Amino acid sequence: MRIDVVSIFPEYLDALGLSLIGKARRDGLLRLDVHDLRAFAHDRHRTVDDTPYGGGAGMVMKPGPWGEALSAIADAPDAAERPLLIVPSPAGAVFNQAMAQELSTRGHLVFACGRYEGIDERVLEWAAERFEVRPVSLGDYVLNGGEVAVLAMVEAVGRLVPGVVGNPESLVEESHSDGLLEYPVYTKPPVWEGRAVPEVLLGGNHGKIARFRRNEQLARTAVRRPDLVLAIDPAGLNRHDRDALWHAGFMIDDGRVVRRPDAGDTAG
Ligand code: SAM
Repeated sequence: MRIDVVSIFPEYLDALGLSLIGKARRDGLLRLDVHDLRAFAHDRHRTVDDTPYGGGAGMVMKPGPWGEALSAIADAPDAAERPLLIVPSPAGAVFNQAMAQELSTRGHLVFACGRYEGIDERVLEWAAERFEVRPVSLGDYVLNGGEVAVLAMVEAVGRLVPGVVGNPESLVEESHSDGLLEYPVYTKPPVWEGRAVPEVLLGGNHGKIARFRRNEQLARTAVRRPDLVLAIDPAGLNRHDRDALWHAGFMIDDGRVVRRPDAGDTAG
C-alpha cells in the first residue's frame, strides 16, 4: 500500500516510523511519504493561510499550495489512477473499523492535514477531478489539526494490511471486528493482588473458554456500548448468546434485539 500525507508539520508524522507500522515500512509492505505543504508556498514567508472571506475568527488554508502539493502527488509516475484523498475534518463521516477495513484494500491513500479553520473548500471540489475525495472525522470533537487523526487512521488501516501484524488471528477477535467489544484478557501470574484469573481460562477446555469469552463479550458490550448490542443481527445469535443477552438486559423481539422492558437501567 502507498500512503502520502501532506502537512505543515511533517515531523508530527515521525511516530509512523515506530513499532509495527515502522517495521512494515522498512519491510516494504507500506510506502509512506510525508510532504511539507510549505514547500509549495512561494512567498518569502511560505504563507499557507489567509483571512476568511465573509469574516469570522481564524484563518483558512490557501488553495494554491494545496493545489500544487496534490498535483505533485497525483502526477507522480507511480501514483494510482484515482487515489483516495482523505481530508480529516470534524465535519466528515466518522471513522470506524469498517472504514479501516475498506481503506486497507485500497492501493493508494492520500491524507490532507488541515490546520487553522480548515482548507479552502474549492480545493476539495478541484481535487475530485483527480482523486476520490472523502472528508473523514476521528470523532465528534475538534482537534487543532489533521495530523493526530492521520496517525490514528494510518495505524488502524496499516495493521489490517496483510503481513503487517504477525499473527492475523489476533485481528479476527478484536473489538469491533464482529460488531462487539473484545472479551477481557489475562496473563500470568494466576493470582495478583488477591485477584484470581477466571478459573475456566486455566482449565484448557477450549469449548468452555470460547463460551466464557463470548458471554463476556456480550455482557461487556451490553454495559459499555448498548448501541452496538441493539445493532446485532439476531440471525447470528445461538441459544447461549440469547441467554447471555437476556442476563445483560436484552431480548429478541420481532427479529430485532431490544431492551428487556423489565430490565430497568441495568443494561447500561
Ligand atoms: N473549523 C473547523 C470545523 O469546525 O469544522 C475545525 C478546524 S480544526 C481547528 C483544524 C483541522 O483539524 C481541521 O481542518 C482538520 O484537519 C483537523 N480536525 C479537527 N478535528 C478533527 C476531527 N474530529 N477529525 C479529523 N480531523 C480533525
